Amino acid sequence: MTFSVIILGSGAAAPTSQRYPTAQALQIDENIFLIDCAEGTQMQLRRYKVKIQQIKAIFISHLHGDHVFGLPGLLSSLSMLDRTEPLQLFAPPYLEEWFTEQLKYFTPLGFPVHFHTLTAREPEIIYENKRITVTCFPLKHRIPVWGFLFREKEKALNIRKDMIEFYQIPLRDILSIKAGADYITEERKIIPNAQLTHPPAKPRSYACCTDTVYMEELSQYVKDVDLLYHEATYGNDGKARSKETFHSTAEEAARVALAANARKLVIGHFSSRYKDITSLLNEARSIFPKTVAAEDGLKIDI
Ligand SMILES: [Zn+2]
Ligand SMILES: [Zn+2]
Repeated sequence: MTFSVIILGSGAAAPTSQRYPTAQALQIDENIFLIDCAEGTQMQLRRYKVKIQQIKAIFISHLHGDHVFGLPGLLSSLSMLDRTEPLQLFAPPYLEEWFTEQLKYFTPLGFPVHFHTLTAREPEIIYENKRITVTCFPLKHRIPVWGFLFREKEKALNIRKDMIEFYQIPLRDILSIKAGADYITEERKIIPNAQLTHPPAKPRSYACCTDTVYMEELSQYVKDVDLLYHEATYGNDGKARSKETFHSTAEEAARVALAANARKLVIGHFSSRYKDITSLLNEARSIFPKTVAAEDGLKIDI
């Protein structure tokens, strides 16, 4: 089953010839979840062959242009492509007013947008379907900002086919065995569940944290995450600037990943002052070796 993320934009602030600003597409089976939607996102979605009609929900971290200016264009295009399915849009306060005002002078969208305003001060589940939950949690930046954690739900136990045959287990008992029950044979013999099932695959998870200063408590919000995206706008040479602008350094991103016991870290949202981000990658890897640097188009299977 698919659970992968495509980085659509890996740069901070304005687009450059190398990097678009922030947007990411998370593909979970046939559903796309878009995180942030900077200028040019619809072009990047096409470039990297993301099926835009599969977008179920959009999660906006904060109201800085480099995370949100692509929204009117993308939604207008979806409308032109005859989308009728409602779109869920999770965003900070005022996004709805801004967006509605933007589109007031143009052809109305052909599908409803359901706005959900983020207000949580503690981690809070804001979306769920059969497969996943999405939790938002506050980050710290010049304006209110939230991170998002996508986590698969626990899967049922896998029943062993050889055991079904061996004990001639009837269909009516299989569901309860998958849910953890033991099996009692006609001779009243108890067969323990562990003998009948294999444990399910571990639920996978992805967390996106942008934009933020270093936050010690963040590692608890994303504890044991499989893949952590953490902004690293600056390297150690930009430490003072990162504090002034409420951003993080690569080293700080790595400290969060280490404390969170993340399996892998992606750093991104690089300042355009870095034409080559090798130094940032090395700084992060000195603390958390399993770090990769985001590039536009980078796809990671989780
Ligand atoms: Zn930003
Ligand atoms: Zn920002």
